[in-house]
Amino acid sequence: MASDQQLEQLEAIAKVELHQHVDGSIPVEVTWSLMRQHGLAPVETMEEMKRLLVLQPEEEGAGLLKYLDKFHYPLWVTQFYENIAEVAYAIAREAYAQGVRLLEIRYAPIIHVYAGLTPRQAIVSLLEGLNRAEAELEGLTCGVIIIAMRHQGPHIAKIIARQAVAEGQGLHDRVGVIGFDIAGAERGNPPKLFREAYEIARRGGLGLTAHAGEDEGPEFVWQAVDDLGVRRIGHGCSAVQDKELLRRLARDQICIEACLTSNYHTGAVARGEEHPVFTFLQHGVPVSICTDNTTVSNTSQLRENRLLLERLTIDEIAGIHDRARAHSFIPAERRRV
Ligand SMILES: [Zn+2]
Repeated sequence: MASDQQLEQLEAIAKVELHQHVDGSIPVEVTWSLMRQHGLAPVETMEEMKRLLVLQPEEEGAGLLKYLDKFHYPLWVTQFYENIAEVAYAIAREAYAQGVRLLEIRYAPIIHVYAGLTPRQAIVSLLEGLNRAEAELEGLTCGVIIIAMRHQGPHIAKIIARQAVAEGQGLHDRVGVIGFDIAGAERGNPPKLFREAYEIARRGGLGLTAHAGEDEGPEFVWQAVDDLGVRRIGHGCSAVQDKELLRRLARDQICIEACLTSNYHTGAVARGEEHPVFTFLQHGVPVSICTDNTTVSNTSQLRENRLLLERLTIDEIAGIHDRARAHSFIPAERRRV
């Protein structure tokens, strides 16, 4: 059990969030309020809505696809410019309250165009909400990672990569796109298929990361590193099965975006099993502590950091956040702390 003093110390750490999804992190009351405003609420009360948005104990460990089911309802409201700006702002505020000062949030614009927005509008609306958050919250710096959905295939991914580059941070004084990622169903969609999309993103100056080794073996992590040239890996859990891969990640200082609660929820790590983050640390592989989806996984930066207290000291946890700053795709000149 963490002491009150430890919790205060954890709160005081200036945290770095490198892996948080918009769709899985919208505060329940914000989704509920938007659902009601638009006459879309599928249930009578916010409590019932919460059960639809937050993974329930009986749903834990049922696999990645079951986990991804939780992302449908937010999409009903995040098809409109103002709503997207509002949810981005709300997520940033919530992260800030947890001590996050460097916030990278990610989303897939292509699943926000069903009501007629263009992919560009779907990106710009998100940037607008984050700019509002930066203007209000002292010391916060934000950036956006654009995701291509794996199941939509490599061709769409190239189109999305070009859109991401067009809104790249280098072209903006304010919040811009800083990175590129692939996400969604990992099985059947190996990283190597997305090589050209990553090449477009790389040439456009974006930081590269990929979800890999969450629902597939170390081979997919190897591909993300060798074929896509990523500097970070989302989850990477299965990499601990491969000693040579661990050496490679350590040698090239490729950062694992570790999302502990989410990994138990999707079944990427079995309940009761030690989380791979400790193996990564032992092998000198850089890690960052991330929430993935604060709403779906009912978590927060503080909760994730608390999980580390079982094995690490406060100073060691603060050190992880310090080092994670070096792996952020947000350019140093934009950072405010
Ligand atoms: Zn993720």
